Amino acid sequence: MAIDYQSLAVRGVQALSPYQPGKPIDELARELGLDPADIIKLASNENPLGPSEKALAAAREALSELCLYPDGNGFDLKQALSARLAVGMDQITLGNGSNDVLEVIARCFADPDAEVVYSQYAFAVYPLVTQAIGATGVSVPARDWGHDLDAMAAAVTERTKLVFVANPNNPTGTVHKAADIETFLAKIPERVLVVLDEAYCEYLTGDAYPDGVQLLSRFPNLIVCRTFSKAWGLAALRVGYSISSPAIADVLNRVRQPFNVDTLALAAATAVLADDAYLERSREVNSAGLRQLEQAFDRMGLAYIPSAGNFVAVDVGEQAQAVYEALLARGVIVRPVAGYGMPRHLRVSVGLPEQNARFIEALEQSLAALGQGS
Ligand SMILES: *Cc1c(COP(=O)(O)O)cnc(C)c1O
Repeated sequence: MAIDYQSLAVRGVQALSPYQPGKPIDELARELGLDPADIIKLASNENPLGPSEKALAAAREALSELCLYPDGNGFDLKQALSARLAVGMDQITLGNGSNDVLEVIARCFADPDAEVVYSQYAFAVYPLVTQAIGATGVSVPARDWGHDLDAMAAAVTERTKLVFVANPNNPTGTVHKAADIETFLAKIPERVLVVLDEAYCEYLTGDAYPDGVQLLSRFPNLIVCRTFSKAWGLAALRVGYSISSPAIADVLNRVRQPFNVDTLALAAATAVLADDAYLERSREVNSAGLRQLEQAFDRMGLAYIPSAGNFVAVDVGEQAQAVYEALLARGVIVRPVAGYGMPRHLRVSVGLPEQNARFIEALEQSLAALGQGS
């Protein structure tokens, strides 16, 4: 009798549905017979500036080392991060994107009988890594699209091993002030690890928002995760990291793959950290683009969730899937978020001014074609 190999997968994996990435430009070009150059992708919160020249030069220079294994300790990158963040190199764990670090954290600290707490509408990777190890995910209902931190603290039980908090959160763009995060952290027992995912922290301005790294000395159960994929513009290279106590980092470093960040990625990430002008431009383009999108939504009478990230979730009504497809037909890729329980919203990443304008025009046309014009 034929074996059903899917039934051999461990229980958590059998129930998994894979992460749904944004549609790649080349895929849409193939499907619709369009020229890839005529398509814009505002679907994965990528940096619209293109990579930093300094990062490109460093990656090019590193090409001659392709025959060698990477530096498994990532010495240069850790040294640069350590100087920038004023933390010890032994507090840093590098990952193949911060997704890798998030998964390693779950594998290291949650066993199959553990509970893992996260928010409704939170980043999809948290339930994914939780389920993959067979642990129980506890999704706490959101408040105003953001984390209900009081309810999350109250959801911690004897079995809770991990709590994930994204600040700002993706896909909602909601953010908590420093005081709220500190009050929350003070309520969490020290035996429960809190992962503060700061993938978009570089876009925050002003003192009101928390800097997870500053909180580490007061909250030893904290793990701060960051990435080079967004404001630093290196999504293709897959580099992320966590900052934690040395003891926690030591555990994570035992489980991560020894060469999880490749040579080009290490070189480019190290170089981009010295390119503050690039980061500054990323921030400027983003805040101007967010304003451009918000003004257009206001004009069109569309509700949106105010965002602290490089994207915004806009309520386009009950036909969101049809609007998404109508945008695709016009060569504009955004992200449906029905899988997050947000069937009326589309998430659009902030692009360059002309990309935002093209998205807005295509959105107006699509809504009009579907009889929803404003
Ligand atoms: C984009 C994103 C990440 C980063 O993913 P990488 O694996 O580093 O590319 C992590 N957390 C959240 C909430 C994100 O939106």
